[in-house]
Amino acid sequence: MTYQPSPARYNDMQYRRCGNSGLKLPALSLGLWHNFGNVNNFENSRNLIRTAFDNGITHFDLANNYGPPPGSAEENFGRILKQDFDGYRDEMIISSKAGYTMWDGPYGDWGSKKYLVSSLDQSLKRMKLDYVDIFYHHRPDPDTPLEETMMALDLIVRQGKALYAGISNYNAEQAAKAIAILKELGTPCLIHQPKYSMFVRNPENGLLDVLKDEGVGCIPFSPLAQGLLTDKYLNGIPEDSRVATSGVFLNENHITPQRIQQISKLNDMAKQRGQKLAHMALAWLLRDSRVTSVLIGSSKPEQIIDSIEALKNTTFTDEELQIINAIL
Ligand code: NDP
Repeated sequence: MTYQPSPARYNDMQYRRCGNSGLKLPALSLGLWHNFGNVNNFENSRNLIRTAFDNGITHFDLANNYGPPPGSAEENFGRILKQDFDGYRDEMIISSKAGYTMWDGPYGDWGSKKYLVSSLDQSLKRMKLDYVDIFYHHRPDPDTPLEETMMALDLIVRQGKALYAGISNYNAEQAAKAIAILKELGTPCLIHQPKYSMFVRNPENGLLDVLKDEGVGCIPFSPLAQGLLTDKYLNGIPEDSRVATSGVFLNENHITPQRIQQISKLNDMAKQRGQKLAHMALAWLLRDSRVTSVLIGSSKPEQIIDSIEALKNTTFTDEELQIINAIL
């Protein structure tokens, strides 16, 4: 049957301005790192995108290397767009990135202009798009001059292949330099995508302040620490969990007795707030006005619906924050 997006899709989602830009992003965005490769069930991937869009999640985050195999998430997303979203491109924010290993030889990795420009051309072909909304440099490159990488982002925006430029995995000092170069070039940095969750708090050491001072948005990735910040691992490893099904970036070694003890205490705390742990973990990030959107992953459509529940309570008392800090 032909898919028709829900007419109620904009009723409940919150949209937040991305830094000082004109762009608003949904409080939750959906990432396609897992569950969209050729190894995954296409109909499930399709349902994930439909469910997200039906609930006001307008922003979809990809990268050249998402799969597996690398590139297949963009290809599958392109198929989904063609099958279900013809006519809805202007209601969507689509992001991609380059910076990790993508193809053999010296031009398929890191941060040269050669790599970024060719990689985005490949991404556009895979997704069958004329442009992406946001194009990120995926990780800092210690060998390429930062000016060259930022000039590549500036060029791509001026060519209209991306509307906005972003950076990811840059620390506070690297981000400040990149933001300054982009400003001078006349293409402001829209957004930074750091790893940030209750379990990974590095952005609090200066990065969030830099972003606020410079009017740059922030979209934390892996906000649930890939699923650890939920109640799913409290009683063993479920068969359908990321640890059991993928196990590459999250595996049994991450589930130590000490971690489980922390998760269990956080779970109790969430219950006291009338939330599930997943909700509390997302709300904890969204309580900070420097955070524009939180970039979730989902293996099942129900998880998207569930995660949206987090928006019902994103305020914390000082006492609650202190207790959480003590647990962490
Ligand atoms: P999360 O921390 O949100 O983990 C997502 C996983 O948690 C899901 O696949 C699912 O795992 C589980 N989960 C999600 N919602 C719920 C729920 N409500 N209840 C119970 N379990 C739930 O994010 P990801 O690690 O997937 O990262 C999100 C996105 O961030 C990526 O898709 C990508 O776009 C981006 N990213 C960017 C990086 C970068 O370098 N810039 C690096 C990594 C990610 P399960 O399979 O167990 O069901």
